[in-house]
Amino acid sequence: MTNTLTGKTALVTGATAGIGYAIAVQLAAEGAEVVVHGRNAERGAKTVQDIENAGGKARFVAADVSNVADVRRLADEAGDVDILVNNAGIYRFAPTVDTTDADFDDQIDTNLRAPYVLVQKLVPGMIARGGGNVVNITTVVASTPAAGAGIYGASKAALESLTKLWADEFGTSGVRVNAVAPGPTQTPGTAAFEADLIEGLGRGTALGRTAEAEEIAHVVTFVASPAASYVNGAILTVGGGGQALRPVA
Ligand code: NAP
Repeated sequence: MTNTLTGKTALVTGATAGIGYAIAVQLAAEGAEVVVHGRNAERGAKTVQDIENAGGKARFVAADVSNVADVRRLADEAGDVDILVNNAGIYRFAPTVDTTDADFDDQIDTNLRAPYVLVQKLVPGMIARGGGNVVNITTVVASTPAAGAGIYGASKAALESLTKLWADEFGTSGVRVNAVAPGPTQTPGTAAFEADLIEGLGRGTALGRTAEAEEIAHVVTFVASPAASYVNGAILTVGGGGQALRPVA
C-alpha cells in the first residue's frame, strides 16, 4: 500500500464482480475508504471482507442502478464521495433489428442515466469540499462500433461525450473527469458469453489476448490519483491495441 488516496472516499459502482471488484480492491490498497456497490449482498459482503482482510476500509451499499430512484438513494447513502467510479454496466448484444425495447431501455438506464444522476448528486459536494475525481468506465466499442453491440456502444459513446463535457464544466472547480475504455476482459460477465467468444475477441487484439480485470483497474487507480493531476477529459483506451473487435478463431 502506498497510500496515495488516504483520507479519500471512493464510490465504485458494480464492485461486487469483475472490473469493479478489481478497482475497489486497488483503490482501497491505495488508502481510500471504498463504498462497494452492487445488487448481490453476498458478493458485496465478500468484496468488503477481501478489502478488510488486506487492511483496507470498505462498506457495501445495495442498489439497482437501472432504477433512477435507487440511484439517488445510493448517492445519499454513499455520503461524501471524493472519487466516483461509474463502472456498473450491462452489455446485451443483438443486431439492430432484433434489439428489444427492454434491452434498449436497460442499457441506456444502467450505462448512461445512472452515471449522469450520480454526477448530478455527488459532484456538487466534491466542489464544495475543494475538488474530486470521476472515472467513467466505457469500452473500445464506443469509438469503434461493432456489429451486434449497437445500443451498448452508443450508451458508452454518450458517456464518453459527457466525460469531455463534465471535464470542461467542472475542471476549474477542481473536479477531474476521465474515461477508461477497456477491451475484451475476463470477468464473470464475459464468462457468460457463448463458447470462446471473449477469448476470440482477445486474439483479435494486437496483444493477442484478453485483459485481466486488474490490468484495467491499474489505469483507473492511476487516473484517480494525484499522479494524474493534469489528466482531464481523456479517454484512456486499455484495449490491447488493434481495435477491430472481431473474434479470431
Ligand atoms: P460484470 O462481470 O458483469 O459485473 C457487473 C457488475 O455491475 C457487478 O458488480 C454487478 O453487480 C453490477 N451491476 C450490473 N447491473 C447492475 C444494476 N442494474 N444495478 C447495480 N449493479 C449492477 O461486468 P464487467 O465485465 O466487469 O464490466 C464492468 C464494466 O466494464 C461495465 O461498465 C462494462 O460495460 C465495462 N466493460 C467491460 C468489458 C469486458 O470485456 N469485461 C469491456 C469493455 C467495457 P451485481 O452482480 O451485484 O448485481
